[in-house]
Amino acid sequence: MSSKISYTSGIYKITNILTGRAYVGSSSDVDKRLMCHIRKLKDNKHQNKDLQKDFNQLGEGGFLFQLIELVLDKALLFNRESYYILKEKQKPYNQGVICVPIDLTEDDTLRFLKGLVFLDNCWSWKSARFVNNAGQHLIPARVSYWLFKGPFDVSLNVAHICGFDKCTNPAHLYTSSLSETIYKFKNTRVW
Ligand SMILES: [Zn+2]
Repeated sequence: MSSKISYTSGIYKITNILTGRAYVGSSSDVDKRLMCHIRKLKDNKHQNKDLQKDFNQLGEGGFLFQLIELVLDKALLFNRESYYILKEKQKPYNQGVICVPIDLTEDDTLRFLKGLVFLDNCWSWKSARFVNNAGQHLIPARVSYWLFKGPFDVSLNVAHICGFDKCTNPAHLYTSSLSETIYKFKNTRVW
């Protein structure tokens, strides 16, 4: 087993026990990330103003700090984070990365197509996130799938048959449930 997965990689949630409002995040080292959140909150230096405000009122004991899902494949972290953010009944403290490219205007589409980078067989996109005109942060692979192959069930992951995490070539993309994806990766990758 490689050292890559010796940390707890996954999705975490910081829940306001009083109101139920949550902050959902992902990290390849959840323990360390949660400690970092707690330290910033205690120092009154957290970047999320709403969360900081509630923490100042309630203190550490007013919040629940939890790991909610183990995600061994880092490429799936943002997909799972978005899944949980979208699932929240109450508006979360953070917006996170939205997986659903619901607001693709003509201008968005044009900008996305211009930013595609064509490699040998795989494609990529010029940066890790595509920000549309509506201000949503989108994962390029999901935008590509949406544009070229059509809308998909947002609870699914967009995975790659080529194993290139950043691939945006629609021919290499498929939608999949998490367990199925991990099974496929286990059979194509050395951990
Ligand atoms: Zn590819």
